[in-house]
Amino acid sequence: MTAALRLCHLYPGQMNIYADRGNIAVLARRLEWRGMRLEVTEAGLGERIEPGAHDLYYLGGGQDRDQHVVAEDLVATKGEALREAVAGGAAALCVCGGFQLAGHGYTGTDGSRMPGIGILDLDTVAGPTRLIGNLVIEAELGGERRRVVGFENHAGRTRLGPGCRPLGRVVHGHGNNGEDGLEGGVAGRVVGTYLHGPLLPKNPWLADRLIAWALAHRLGEPPELASLDDALEEAAHAVAAARAARPAR
Ligand code: GLN
Repeated sequence: MTAALRLCHLYPGQMNIYADRGNIAVLARRLEWRGMRLEVTEAGLGERIEPGAHDLYYLGGGQDRDQHVVAEDLVATKGEALREAVAGGAAALCVCGGFQLAGHGYTGTDGSRMPGIGILDLDTVAGPTRLIGNLVIEAELGGERRRVVGFENHAGRTRLGPGCRPLGRVVHGHGNNGEDGLEGGVAGRVVGTYLHGPLLPKNPWLADRLIAWALAHRLGEPPELASLDDALEEAAHAVAAARAARPAR
């Protein structure tokens, strides 16, 4: 393929606290290894986006303070275009604070409400404690099941509505709210999750699911993805999974 896969990185200046650029670097490398290219466009405060111009959107994590500013701007300048884009088959990865804003809204630790864009049917309210630690889930995407590992750190408790299914079930850690055993949210090609650390370097399977979806949007048909030597990635995955299984001290 000569044309590049087009990724739009939303609010890289505000929503970037968990090595979110690492996730994008993984997507770029996995495409390069297969003879393709990732073209990254950044869209910050006040910038509008064209619904058909990107195959994959990335919205990372942020602190409540930054999330306030981003939430208002996201709804005002990009919400409509993003809803149109994902309805047209574009993919999205929304992590932590980004996961919360992909839903209907987030009521933060100070009680104030931040609006979301509703590309995932879920809602989030901050609780009295932060849910922090290593997180392992049994994820299911595209008919395949895999363990996905990472780290979580959020005050928000997220509840899924009927229009959204979980990304997976919690094996170790808290997940969406520490109560219902669910983690993340998926609708169409939109994936939201509390997993970061960053997420994709240790979970190449998930990176390839997103790449496949985005390429399907780009090319109009599902691509054949050549398999890669993921020995290093699998080793990193195993270390993170073992660490999460150890009882907290
Ligand atoms: N500020 C949000 C919370 O505390 C999201 C945190 C994050 O993105 N890590 O729940």
